Amino acid sequence: MTFLYKADPARGEQWARLFAQKAPDLEFRVWPDVGDPAAIRYLAAWQPPEDPARTLPNLEVVFSVGAGIDQFDLSGVPAHVPVVRMIEPGIVEGMVEYVTQAVLTIHRDLFDYGLQQQERQWREMPVRAAASRRVGVLGLGVLGTAVLERLRLFGFPCAGWSRSPRTLDGIECYAGTESLDAFLARTDVLICLLPLTDATRGLLNAKLFAALPEGASIVNVGRGPQLNQDDLLAALASGQLQNAILDVTDPEPLPASHPLWTHARVRITPHIASATRPDTAVDVVLDNIRRHRAGQPMIGQIDRSRGY
Ligand code: NAP
Repeated sequence: MTFLYKADPARGEQWARLFAQKAPDLEFRVWPDVGDPAAIRYLAAWQPPEDPARTLPNLEVVFSVGAGIDQFDLSGVPAHVPVVRMIEPGIVEGMVEYVTQAVLTIHRDLFDYGLQQQERQWREMPVRAAASRRVGVLGLGVLGTAVLERLRLFGFPCAGWSRSPRTLDGIECYAGTESLDAFLARTDVLICLLPLTDATRGLLNAKLFAALPEGASIVNVGRGPQLNQDDLLAALASGQLQNAILDVTDPEPLPASHPLWTHARVRITPHIASATRPDTAVDVVLDNIRRHRAGQPMIGQIDRSRGY
């Protein structure tokens, strides 16, 4: 029985060492050194190989090495093969850190102080109480929930929006398209932590920005194609939006001439908000393999009809 890893080769070496320690009975291979394709039962990949139904005929589970699966071409993965996304503590901690720094950067006026510094200006601005800065997260999944639970501790009034209704302690929960405008109207800092699907592509657009209070800010840590970048530039120019922190763009990276690169009210990072940590990810994958063998549900199995 073989486990095949098909993603970044340097990380593959770390996975191989961890598998050797933790699951010595499971043969571990790194793509393209597949060995006997018929022996491969488990695949961990950023993108499955072409036509896996034919090339890996006995595949039992596909694991995404990332939290999202929007990059996966699932058409060649047979319907009976479960697809599992990565839910592991390393990704969650990284995202909580990133979004916390983004919200605090906006909340404590660091965009404005950065501009002042360029002008060698030393000028205090009044500090706004956290209780008056309303934070809202699009997506109340594993990451959105973890982020809100931490931000709540600073005293920000916190809310989240999801597809199906949720109940979370101390967090105002909104669900469905019909409640989106009410959620946006009470949100000063909007964070996107939605999966990329047909329903969320282009969601962060002029119409959505107009439903936020004037001078709101956004943080996109979901996926680049969820944001209409031209609409963002227009909303920043009109003052409808004040600041944007983007960890994801479309394309990645943006062309060198793109105006977002040099916009004084935009901060860009190269899709680093959080990444799978091999040490914690391997434990989660091995636990899921145990679950699969025992006929139990795996953590993070996606619903292919829903797209996430
Ligand atoms: P998750 O647990 O699957 O949660 C997704 C949330 O989005 C759920 O609350 C879901 O609603 C909601 N949602 C999905 N489609 C919706 C729609 N059409 N309308 C309203 N709500 C909708 O996902 P996660 O683990 O939190 O991760 C979220 C995303 O973060 C990933 O898909 C990935 O794109 C992104 N990410 C980015 C980075 C980075 O480094 N930038 C790292 C990791 C992940 P329900 O609760 O009703 O299902």
